[in-house]
Amino acid sequence: MHIEVRGLDKSFGNFHAVKDVSFSIEKGRLIGLLGPSGGGKTSILRMLAGLETPTSGEIYFHGKQVNNLPPQERGIGFVFQNYALFKHMTVAENIAFGLKVQKKKKADITARVQELVELTGLKGFEQRYPNQLSGGQRQRVAFARALAPEPQLLLLDEPFAAIDAKIRSELRTWLKDIIERVGITAIFVTHDQEEAIEVADEIMIINHGKLEQKGTPWEIYKQPQTPFVASFVGESTFLDDISNLRGFEDAGDWEGTKALIRPEYIEIGKPSEFALASATEQGKIKHIHFRGSEWKVEVEVGAYNLTTYRSLEKDVLQPGEDVQVLVHRAYLFNDEDSWIMENR
Ligand code: ATP
Repeated sequence: MHIEVRGLDKSFGNFHAVKDVSFSIEKGRLIGLLGPSGGGKTSILRMLAGLETPTSGEIYFHGKQVNNLPPQERGIGFVFQNYALFKHMTVAENIAFGLKVQKKKKADITARVQELVELTGLKGFEQRYPNQLSGGQRQRVAFARALAPEPQLLLLDEPFAAIDAKIRSELRTWLKDIIERVGITAIFVTHDQEEAIEVADEIMIINHGKLEQKGTPWEIYKQPQTPFVASFVGESTFLDDISNLRGFEDAGDWEGTKALIRPEYIEIGKPSEFALASATEQGKIKHIHFRGSEWKVEVEVGAYNLTTYRSLEKDVLQPGEDVQVLVHRAYLFNDEDSWIMENR
């Protein structure tokens, strides 16, 4: 389903939880609402669901205003982090629940439950009760139950939060695959940037009730439009004044510019590893950690501590060692604008 939201606002008493949020979502997209705790993600989801009334603003599904439509008439399915399965019902009964509410025929219900059981890999578990399932299995039942009535929009609030790391990562891939196969629009809330990047077609970054940026994971990572987005997604170091770094002197032309540097744009090494003319800086290794596939290195350059990674193939560096540091690229921000600056 195509979704359009205009000027969505929500206050709880005198607390302004969601501030003038506007966006549109194409049919069939999987959207991640990403941001820190308390930023307003769940409130946005609940307003889309009809569980919360907007203070102002409009919500359109397929071009039709749904502000006054109750949740059960919006064509949506829900999945929450705590499974919220009916404990006294079997897997099959849980999945059938929404269909029974819709007063579907018994034979149709049985057929649809079978279809969902197969789709979600729950064959053989139909007669079990929720307390006889693992966390991952329970969450799959929750997906199956939400999908059974064929909603056009699936809303997921931290669907993986209660699941341990390994199963969680499997479940993410599984969910993305299922949602693509079913072809519905889905929005999931998460505060985990890795999860949003891996799963979502598009990410919306929500902070202090505002939509800071909407874009593909690639755009969010590579072209962050605000310092918040840049610091929330991916690793980075902030520099108050990058103009005293060789190669970035021109940044001094813009008043009040801050810079952010990602580890992958920093190269460190012994002087022999660099061409003579490169605009390198003198640095000193502060810490070095082995991470299995590479070294994580913290290097001191003037007043700054920069973090980067170094391949295991290269010579091992030692804490305290003097090194050359080459910053290839930085993200620059001032009050009005954001742009990328390459080392001259
Ligand atoms: P989390 O990841 O912790 O769930 P979130 O980004 O989903 O955070 P919301 O749950 O939308 O954030 O909450 C946004 C803000 O609104 C919070 O400060 C919260 O305390 C407040 N809030 C949410 N619901 C209510 C309510 N019913 N009454 C008062 N304040 C509320």
